[in-house]
Amino acid sequence: MSWSFETDQDFEDQLEWIDEFTTKEIEPLDLVFRDPGDPWDPNSPAAKAMEPLRQIVRQKKLWACHLGPELGGEGYGQVKLGLMNEILGRSRFGPSVFGCQAPDSGNAEILAHFGTSEQKQTYLTPLLDGKIASCYSMTEPQAGSDPAEFTCIAKKDGNDWIINGEKWFASHARFSEFLLVMVVTNPERPIHEGASILLVEKNNPGLEIIRNSAVGPYVEQGDGVHAYLRFTNCRVPAANLLGEEGKGFLVAQTRLGGGRVHHAMRSVGVLKKAMDMMCERALSRNTKGEPLASKQLTQEKIADSYTQILQYRLHVLYTAWLIDKHKEYNREVRKEIAAIKAATPKVLQDVIYRAMHIHGSLGMSDETPLMTMWANIPELGVVDGPSEVHKVTVARAVLRNYSAAPGLFPTYHTPELRQLAEQKYGHYLK
Ligand SMILES: Cc1cc2nc3c(=O)[nH]c(=O)nc-3n(C[C@H](O)[C@H](O)[C@H](O)COP(=O)(O)OP(=O)(O)OC[C@H]3O[C@@H](n4cnc5c(N)ncnc54)[C@H](O)[C@@H]3O)c2cc1C
Repeated sequence: MSWSFETDQDFEDQLEWIDEFTTKEIEPLDLVFRDPGDPWDPNSPAAKAMEPLRQIVRQKKLWACHLGPELGGEGYGQVKLGLMNEILGRSRFGPSVFGCQAPDSGNAEILAHFGTSEQKQTYLTPLLDGKIASCYSMTEPQAGSDPAEFTCIAKKDGNDWIINGEKWFASHARFSEFLLVMVVTNPERPIHEGASILLVEKNNPGLEIIRNSAVGPYVEQGDGVHAYLRFTNCRVPAANLLGEEGKGFLVAQTRLGGGRVHHAMRSVGVLKKAMDMMCERALSRNTKGEPLASKQLTQEKIADSYTQILQYRLHVLYTAWLIDKHKEYNREVRKEIAAIKAATPKVLQDVIYRAMHIHGSLGMSDETPLMTMWANIPELGVVDGPSEVHKVTVARAVLRNYSAAPGLFPTYHTPELRQLAEQKYGHYLK
């Protein structure tokens, strides 16, 4: 068994370069391009600004590098992606400049595994090149956390599927070339055996965007990037079924598992940025004749934040390491993914709140990145399933390793244990 907390020197050098590149070239994008779709929309002015940066990333062989070489990546795996994402997470644009942005990265994996060669040519190649955007649509207006409540249905008609129903909060549908849609294909079966994923092209006449919701109050109502969709006799060819009929959730597992870890990796980046701001401010602001950093109550905030970030970071990297080791989303991996998914909003809430608080009024203003970080926390407790559901997954997995006490008293009840221990060691007392 080997344990290591070190990064090899070559990759360490690359991380240093990524860090500098992010500070100098990527973080400034956040100050100029503020529309909610900017990092993902191939037609936004931000896409033009990102293109030369993407070229540099490709030349450095860091483009989409978590993907295998067959998909145009470097096959670096999740630990290396984790270390990169810790830096890229500092900017909304980081993942898009490096070709590892959600939801496109997960959608690309589904297409790579289950798409026909024609679909790969039409969609996968431009998606991996960053030329088009994509959408993954599962949530419905009446049901999110519990897929058993899904009703959007697809029925076979000759060689086609016909979809009817509604979907909700389908991110980026508005500028996506195609959507991967989870639909009920056999309502007689439990949902995990009766749902499938269909590829729907953007111009399909049976697909309508009812409106686009936004997260937060910062954009004009209806001008967000999360679409409320309606499918009315939406006809797609049989070839657009990705994976086997009824195996939609198995197919989705590839992208959902990865997506949750990637959110956590990027959150480490957000946490580190908040920590940097907290420390700089604590050293810069004087009150009662000394810097805030000299006050023990400030020091407590810094120490608690440091420890929480380190614990969270190690958990995220451990999970990434497990994925690389097992090369599948098995039970052990799913437990850790669920645990870090549930831990994410709390650690962000604690650290960002402290950072804002130490900045006083400036922290609450729109003149630092802190308020935006704060506004983004709640979605991390809901997106890809709420914390409650993930905690249930963790608890069930933990409890699987235990069983009830065989007798009236617990197995650790000391009177019986003491008797046994005295039989073993009692003679030393005589
Ligand atoms: C920014 C953002 C982007 C998103 N993008 C997409 C996307 O691209 N595609 C997509 O399909 N969906 C997307 N979603 C939707 C997301 O997946 C759902 O919000 C999520 O699955 C929860 O579903 P819901 O919103 O219907 O909440 P509900 O299912 O109504 O849950 C609401 C609350 O009920 C409680 N609850 C639910 N279940 C349980 C339980 N078992 N035990 C105890 N309490 C429970 C929790 O407190 C939970 O927060 C996005 C959401 C956000 C916020």
